Amino acid sequence: METIVLYPSPGMGHLISMVELGKFILKHHPFFKIVILIVPPSFNTGSTASYIDRVSAATKSITFRQLPPVSLELDSFSSMEAVIFEAIRLSNPHVHQALQHISLTTTITALIMDFFCTPAFSISTKLGIPTYYFCTSGVSSHAFFLYFPTIHRNTIKSFKDLNTIVHVPGLPPIPSSDVAKPILDRASTEYACFLDFSLYLPKSAGFIVNSFDSLEPKILKAVSEGSCNPDGATPPVFCVGPLLASEDRGGGTDDVHECLKWLDSQPSQSVVFLCFGSLGLFSDKQLKEIAIGLEKSEQRFLWVIRSPPSEDKSKRYLPPPEPDLDSLLPSGFLDRTKDLGFVVKSWAPQVEVLNHKSIGGFVTHCGWNSVLEAVWAGVPMVAWPLYAEQKFNRVVLVEDLKLALRINESEDGFVTAEEVESRVRELMDSDTGESIRKRTKEKEAEAKAAISEGGSSTVALANLIKSWKLG
Ligand code: UDP
Repeated sequence: METIVLYPSPGMGHLISMVELGKFILKHHPFFKIVILIVPPSFNTGSTASYIDRVSAATKSITFRQLPPVSLELDSFSSMEAVIFEAIRLSNPHVHQALQHISLTTTITALIMDFFCTPAFSISTKLGIPTYYFCTSGVSSHAFFLYFPTIHRNTIKSFKDLNTIVHVPGLPPIPSSDVAKPILDRASTEYACFLDFSLYLPKSAGFIVNSFDSLEPKILKAVSEGSCNPDGATPPVFCVGPLLASEDRGGGTDDVHECLKWLDSQPSQSVVFLCFGSLGLFSDKQLKEIAIGLEKSEQRFLWVIRSPPSEDKSKRYLPPPEPDLDSLLPSGFLDRTKDLGFVVKSWAPQVEVLNHKSIGGFVTHCGWNSVLEAVWAGVPMVAWPLYAEQKFNRVVLVEDLKLALRINESEDGFVTAEEVESRVRELMDSDTGESIRKRTKEKEAEAKAAISEGGSSTVALANLIKSWKLG
């Protein structure tokens, strides 16, 4: 039996994409065994345990191997990314043991790992296991990180102080302040870890990307032709997406969420959906401003609201408590908008919502899974980035792919009610909004074709598997 080991980083978004990759491999090549290494959650990663149970029960060829817990002082880290890098670094000896143990009874055909998991690279190389990177963001992020060592060499400044436009082959011009948030400061641990990953990237056996060939064609061409890695050869790229979360991510209940019932009673493509990923939080002041803007836009809306971030440092990575809508929203807002809007506390079934016929637009934080889910549902976007590589994704979505409108924020990230009102109106009720909608619908059709029999992603997966020397 040939085994493929998948090594996702902590975080539900990363885990779900990896699991979907495993399922896609099994769907087309059921003779593999898939083992997924899990770094135990030491912070808010969503309900990983119940998700793992559901996947294990549904797909017997996928097994999970929990690595021993590692101890972290959460409040000593500057960001979630720093926490993840450290958890991965501390888990490295356990990854070594796990790979050795798995190798006792089976051949490991490939190790496919998340970009956070770079410390495992030297282990897999020593053990002679072909190692691939799996990118849970787009080809565009991949292109950027391939080129990152070149940028690093050409300046001594931090991106946050560069105040210029960064040019990467295949990508639209990127304002230096819009690169991935964790690498803004050259002196940070996160910067060093991402640079390390970027240096290992070209040494891998290939890049597997959760995207499809016709979504980012210019960028894909630049990467494939080697333009993003002037230092040497570029390993092959396999776009095998979109890999989207399926049924088993739900809460295991057959109850229809109340927001979906409300959507049933709304006109077709009339509702704008506002949802900001698994970690997107707004201040009290920003939430009130969004409310005012939405009310003034006079558009129908479905809005997921979370409590503002905790002042208490030790609670930064824990799920926020249920929001108190009466204190967070302007007085009388819920009453005045009850015929036009619906507010959901904390979490909505996003995939089901986006695929509901009443949804006509999506205000998103530009997390890559959200972007792919919107494309899959043919829903045009307003791009409102908050953390990670989301500002970078916005540049790509707005300037190159033309699937989103840009929200304009002040330097400190604040967005006024007028801006919310204008962008929501523009998306839902203007020629520009309509042309973005039309383009998104074209991409929806292409996404579906990509993963069908003979589609580009299915062919890419077949090519990947062909490249493994099966024993
Ligand atoms: N999500 C959801 N309901 C919510 C918020 C998020 O179902 O209220 C899901 C969303 O569908 C997506 C994932 O959480 O699959 C978020 O992933 P993404 O990459 O967009 O952003 P991240 O949370 O990693 O920043």
